[in-house]
Amino acid sequence: MAESGLMEDLYREIILDHYRQPRNHGTAIEPTCSADGANPLCGDQVRVDVALVDGVVEAISFSGQGCSISQASASMMTEYVKGRDTAAALQGDEAFQQMMLTGEAPDIDGFDDIAALAGVAKFPARVKCASLAWKTLAQALADGGGSVTTDDGSR
Ligand code: ZN
Repeated sequence: MAESGLMEDLYREIILDHYRQPRNHGTAIEPTCSADGANPLCGDQVRVDVALVDGVVEAISFSGQGCSISQASASMMTEYVKGRDTAAALQGDEAFQQMMLTGEAPDIDGFDDIAALAGVAKFPARVKCASLAWKTLAQALADGGGSVTTDDGSR
């Protein structure tokens, strides 16, 4: 039990680190697609701006406000997708949604920090917080813009 407590502490540290020092936050870029996401249940908001060059995420920036899980997840998401092509970015989204169902971290490259959020799967209300940035990313990439909300009636 002591061991799992240690892991939880480490995971909490990773999440807090991304929350306090968010990566790619408010960076000035020239986006080719953007989307706004909202999780009304918690009051989380995330905007994602993506600069695609030849199908690759050349630059990404997010802004927003909300709970530590929503903002830390957004920071982790931007680190993951930066430099990857859209297919790999959407694969990351799929892997993340899967992790939110199973509570198991997927064995894919670049998910080291993101795996810290696997425990969120046990808390359905917080899953919407953690998933918000990824859903917003998928919205930006798939439709080239718009807005998305996690309040989809599935609660
Ligand atoms: Zn939240």
